[in-house]
Amino acid sequence: MCDCLEVYGEKMENRAIVKIGSKGKYIHGSWENLSLVDVNGVFTTRPSLPFAFKYRKIKSNGEEYANVSSDTHVLFFSFCPFCGVKYDN
Ligand SMILES: [Zn+2]
Repeated sequence: MCDCLEVYGEKMENRAIVKIGSKGKYIHGSWENLSLVDVNGVFTTRPSLPFAFKYRKIKSNGEEYANVSSDTHVLFFSFCPFCGVKYDN
């Protein structure tokens, strides 16, 4: 397992500080879309890519509801998106 999330997280913090410049004071930053996963009994975080979708629910009589519902389905990366190392299963 690599430490890319930490390494690139620090780089992103530095970029955020530069982006803010003299307009403000940086407080904290973190990756979004990290999911907690169980790898052989040990919990770890993995980057994930949420897929958002919309759909219409179906009534018991087969008709569609007028309102649109939203949901997401998450894809976990099997490999580090930065260095390509395969994550443990
Ligand atoms: Zn990596």
